[in-house]
Amino acid sequence: MAFNNNKHVLLTFAICCLIVTVGLTVVPEPLDVGLEGRLSVNTRELEAVSVDFGRLSRGEAWAVVQPATAEDVVRVVKAAFEAPFAVSARGHGHSINGQALIKEKKGVVIEMVKGGGSNNGDKENSIRVSEKGMYVDVWGGRLWIDVLSATLEYGLAPMSWTDYLYLSVGGTLSNAGISGQTFNHGPQISNVYELDVVTGKGELVTCSEDRNSELFHAVLGGLGQFGIITRARIALEPAPHRVRWIRVLYSNFATFCKDQEYLISMHGKPGNERFDYVEGFVIVDEGLINNWRSSFFSASNPVKITSLKADGDVLYCLEITKNYNQGNADSVDEEIQSLLKKLDFIPTSVFTTDLPYLDFLDRVHKAELKLRSKGLWDVPHPWLNLFVPKSRIADFDKGVFKGILGNKTSGPILIYPMNKNKWDQRSSVVTPEEDVFYLVAFLRSALDTETLEYLSNENRQIVRFCHDSEIKVKQYLPHYTTHQEWMDHFGDKWTQFSARKMKFDPRQILATGQQIFQFDPSNPLTLTNYI
Ligand code: FAD
Repeated sequence: MAFNNNKHVLLTFAICCLIVTVGLTVVPEPLDVGLEGRLSVNTRELEAVSVDFGRLSRGEAWAVVQPATAEDVVRVVKAAFEAPFAVSARGHGHSINGQALIKEKKGVVIEMVKGGGSNNGDKENSIRVSEKGMYVDVWGGRLWIDVLSATLEYGLAPMSWTDYLYLSVGGTLSNAGISGQTFNHGPQISNVYELDVVTGKGELVTCSEDRNSELFHAVLGGLGQFGIITRARIALEPAPHRVRWIRVLYSNFATFCKDQEYLISMHGKPGNERFDYVEGFVIVDEGLINNWRSSFFSASNPVKITSLKADGDVLYCLEITKNYNQGNADSVDEEIQSLLKKLDFIPTSVFTTDLPYLDFLDRVHKAELKLRSKGLWDVPHPWLNLFVPKSRIADFDKGVFKGILGNKTSGPILIYPMNKNKWDQRSSVVTPEEDVFYLVAFLRSALDTETLEYLSNENRQIVRFCHDSEIKVKQYLPHYTTHQEWMDHFGDKWTQFSARKMKFDPRQILATGQQIFQFDPSNPLTLTNYI
């Protein structure tokens, strides 16, 4: 049924909700589309999709849909297109700034993580491994931890990861999906063969490099603006058995960067000539060598960290790993020693641990469980993620790590470089205009309002510092509230991004929580805002 009069839709919906609250089960009329899955207007379920990991904003959806199939997603989006009302795919809700929320009762949340057979652990239907094709087909709402468990049964695994695996496939592919493997394999969006996408017009389209390629590239890193990913085909490789995980310390930032950049220049080299994972973090407070982000434990703790602080009271920790199998366990020590010899870290500062591949990839979850048990997980997270061009990383260090931060950080600060040539420029994601750029991630938690204000203010100061110093950073997992900021963010890509929006989601109903385009129910067929 088509609803051209939005007031009528809202009125109908309000009446229906009223009926539900007095005990009759009535589907909101615009959503009476014969779903195979579930639709709920239950207060508890609506509340659950009204917050995200950031806990900085609140949403208010009409209803939650848990789709049984991609066709259910088509049914909801078609209804939304006709009405119109807004639709947000929600993965695991681990955004920071309300990106998967519906605001002001303007629409419906599609809970992908509970759809497509995910809820009942139906691996057969929602995760299918092809050993011959060396790929896995995954429902867009499945979590990466489930993808890993399923592929490991075949001795296979995806190549590119995020540090934390309780994120949905659709959620990370809508951003990029980065971690210490990105320098070598590219972000997760560079490791996708094919997608099924429900566009903003309610069409289910299969796309890849060769087929409907514009949609394919638009959706990867597309912040949910062009369609809802219902299936992704992800490249696999033979999974290593174990991981040697090493941390070494630096007191000199230039040396730290030189070594990180050297290590990522080894991308594409045979396994024994490079490390498999390169990350790093900044130690401003004492004690942060073991932060919540990982459950790293090294039996040897040869140095007291406080005794090392030389260069402006800040230390830098390089984190590297080497994968190995039973077959090459004998040679791994030798390979590591030969690689370490080329680095200039503080000689007494080598911390090493060794664990199964699964445990390494799932390392953050252990820390999560600890924090949860102390009530420290579901707190506000004013995170800031920046891509900083290599040529200005030293200025960033001086101005931010040794300047703005003072000696209190309230959480881990990651820093690691990536190679731009591993990022497909046809995707929607934007990165700095240099061959090498760094991720700098301020992953901080606020246990009280005062800290939240302090950290949010510090984030603003960091962004302002970059602007004033003309350090051309790009936000990763971007959050802006004005048209001008989004245009600046996308730069040269803005024209293409907004044209693709017009083509694939002309009523601007998808992922309105990103606040890029403004959903305007009274004027649905024009891109009134922001063009
Ligand atoms: P949601 O927050 O649910 O959604 C994010 C956006 O994607 C929304 O706009 C939503 O509408 C859209 N979306 C969701 N599903 C779909 C779909 N199927 N189709 C189309 N659009 C969809 N990121 C990294 O790259 N590397 C990391 O190492 C990393 N570590 C993290 C650790 C933690 C503890 C947390 C909380 C986040 C981390 N992130 C990391 C960020 C994370 O990748 C993003 O926040 C991601 O969006 C979260 O996935 P989600 O499933 O929770 O998505």
